Amino acid sequence: MKPAWRDELLTEYAGLADKLERLLPCLEVPMHLPWIDAIQALKRERGAVVMAHSYQSPEIFHGVADVTGDSLALAQAAADCDAGVVVLCGVHFMAETAKILAPHVKVLIPDALAGCSLADSITAADVRMLRARHPGAPVVTYVNTSADVKAESDACCTSANAVQVVEAMGADKVIFLPDRYLGAHVASQTDVQLVLWDGRCEVHETFTAAQARHARERFDARLVAHPECPPEVLAEADFVGSTSAMGAWLEREQPERVALITECSMADNLRLRFPATEFIKPCNLCPHMKRITLPNIHACLRDLVPEVTVPEDVAIRARRALERMLAVGRGERI
Ligand code: SF4
Repeated sequence: MKPAWRDELLTEYAGLADKLERLLPCLEVPMHLPWIDAIQALKRERGAVVMAHSYQSPEIFHGVADVTGDSLALAQAAADCDAGVVVLCGVHFMAETAKILAPHVKVLIPDALAGCSLADSITAADVRMLRARHPGAPVVTYVNTSADVKAESDACCTSANAVQVVEAMGADKVIFLPDRYLGAHVASQTDVQLVLWDGRCEVHETFTAAQARHARERFDARLVAHPECPPEVLAEADFVGSTSAMGAWLEREQPERVALITECSMADNLRLRFPATEFIKPCNLCPHMKRITLPNIHACLRDLVPEVTVPEDVAIRARRALERMLAVGRGERI
């Protein structure tokens, strides 16, 4: 049942309402506050932590999340987590990653059908086939993959640390899976030969060079692109970087106007951090990320389902690959 409106909510959540009014159509805010209030109460009751990816909508990212960030930040937070329950507001592979790194925690995802075109592009059998074709080449797998695929890999990476992880393998040739465009971008920054797979992100692959040029010429905007975009888009960009690297670039450059060539909510969630910058939004929404809503987060905390589980034999092997990625981040040899 939908939680009821109380006039006091506007006072109790004055700071949050002010933030959300700057990011959303202002008439949406009274619609979200009762859900946010009910979720905060359930979080306290369940001793739960809500983690939200940067592509989540502002009412989730700012309204109910305790931990926010990119895949790497969420993976690290999961590894360090001592809560009994984690609600992962993101897509299924992220919830699996949290479960693998925090096996003692009950990991819930508000919509179990929140998938990912990259994760769906490759299976564990495909990885075994590639290993047979390229004997001796280690496999580095982007975290945007299923637990089964991670379990077949030597190490995982995110877009933030892909070059570092590839080079840490100490091999002349590495099988890099599954994003073709991220792979091509990594290949341009290392001498290691990469064997690529034809996976693509359905959100980033639709951006075009013409769109990027339009943002620059029409709006005089600096261009920041995610490496999952096609190479001709990356060639137009002033900066190419992961979700976290985009934030660091904005911090450094403080541009007057910027177009973030990535998922739409990313600009919304950064806008509050950089009030002096005008964000030009090419609005490509990830339909999988947007399956997560305040009502299904509430239902998930109330009923403690759907729970994400990973078979123990798969989890042990996948954990090894994820821990090698985290070790590279700590500057350790792997
Ligand atoms: S934005 Fe792309 S890579 Fe990220 S979850 Fe959506 S489909 Fe997958």
